[in-house]
Amino acid sequence: MSAPLTILGTGMAGLGLARQLRIRDSERRITLITADSGDDYSKPLLSTGFAKQISPEKLVGRNALQVADELRAVVRTHTRVDAIDTQAAELVLGSERLAYGELVLATGAAPRPPFDIPDSLRGRAFTINDLDDYRAFHAALTALERPGRVAILGAGLVGCEYANDLRAGGHEVVMIAPENTPLIRLLPEPLGRVLGKAFLDIGIDMKLGRMIEALQGDDAGAALTLGDGQSLKADLVLIATGLMPRIELARQAGLEVSAEGIHTDRYLRTSAPGIYALGDGACVAGLNAMYVQPLQTSAKALAATLTDTPTPVRYGAWPILVKTPACPVVALPSRRTPARWRIEGEGSDLTALAEDEEGQLIGFALTGRSVRRKVELARAAPRLLV
Ligand SMILES: Cc1cc2nc3c(=O)[nH]c(=O)nc-3n(C[C@H](O)[C@H](O)[C@H](O)COP(=O)(O)OP(=O)(O)OC[C@H]3O[C@@H](n4cnc5c(N)ncnc54)[C@H](O)[C@@H]3O)c2cc1C
Repeated sequence: MSAPLTILGTGMAGLGLARQLRIRDSERRITLITADSGDDYSKPLLSTGFAKQISPEKLVGRNALQVADELRAVVRTHTRVDAIDTQAAELVLGSERLAYGELVLATGAAPRPPFDIPDSLRGRAFTINDLDDYRAFHAALTALERPGRVAILGAGLVGCEYANDLRAGGHEVVMIAPENTPLIRLLPEPLGRVLGKAFLDIGIDMKLGRMIEALQGDDAGAALTLGDGQSLKADLVLIATGLMPRIELARQAGLEVSAEGIHTDRYLRTSAPGIYALGDGACVAGLNAMYVQPLQTSAKALAATLTDTPTPVRYGAWPILVKTPACPVVALPSRRTPARWRIEGEGSDLTALAEDEEGQLIGFALTGRSVRRKVELARAAPRLLV
């Protein structure tokens, strides 16, 4: 019997691909391998649970057994792959070797804390990039048996969403980041200021434009010192300073990688024959998207390719909906630096149009009631190709 098609990773990319494959091929042997519990959950919901008082268990759509049953696949959980032997077409798992037919790397990205977390902060400092992380953070906050004070480091998408969600869930939040306005990668400053003001209005303590000088734990909690000399106390620290694609396995196996991810072409083929990549870990034709819509498009295209219909992936324009109800935000970032931003609107309802030298719309950002323009503007923006 030939070796199964093997998918490494059961996040939205790995499971999304397996589901698309099953639609097209009911017979193919599929093995999924994951270092985590293999629970099927929607990662974007992780930053909406505190406002709605949702327990981590409620976020699980299906457990690994149910997934295996649904997909008629072998699902190996809590199993870390240590290496890929491309010559033998085998995975190395400790002392075990597992043959693969085709191999798909859907290994995602890992949090990138800007410093080593001191031992004194064990149990008080967290990153959240999967359900297990969320369970740990949720348990620590619940154990306080009172509203907590959470210091969030980072003002990107994940930091902003948790700030809004934790505050809406009744917790005290202080947000600390070196940038002067939140969501700097998605919003030009005037729109960032609108979001920052909305956060202040709901009671989030904004400490932007400041670095962390020192961070340590004591019996009472976490003690933070900022670059301007201010000292802060918090029960817990949430480090939301970005993600780095997991490239180690691929790099060691000799595949082409960079800090942007595992390199693939538009067919999601890596530089090694028979090995593909998609999701947060993949850099597809020069772009690592790290959002759901691109990985869903990739899953569909790759399922077709793996069932004898070679299909290049094209993402199109995908507006990002930031889950900050205090101030709704939608953004379609441009791959190029805009020549200028044209800003329209009043108060918190702003539209920012990113234009190139010829005045062509190449991206946009919207706040407040202006988010209603997302469909109209997404249609007007040229297709963002990979
Ligand atoms: C809080 C939060 C909110 C978000 N909100 C949105 C949103 O609103 N909209 C949006 O578009 N995107 C959002 N995103 C991004 C989106 O969720 C991700 O792009 C997507 O979930 C990534 O899925 P993935 O399958 O590529 O990676 P992951 O979900 O990271 O899955 C990686 C898998 O690989 C496995 N793995 C890794 N290494 C190994 C190994 N060596 N051996 C075995 N298994 C391994 C892991 O165990 C895991 O199963 C959000 C992200 C976060 C963190």
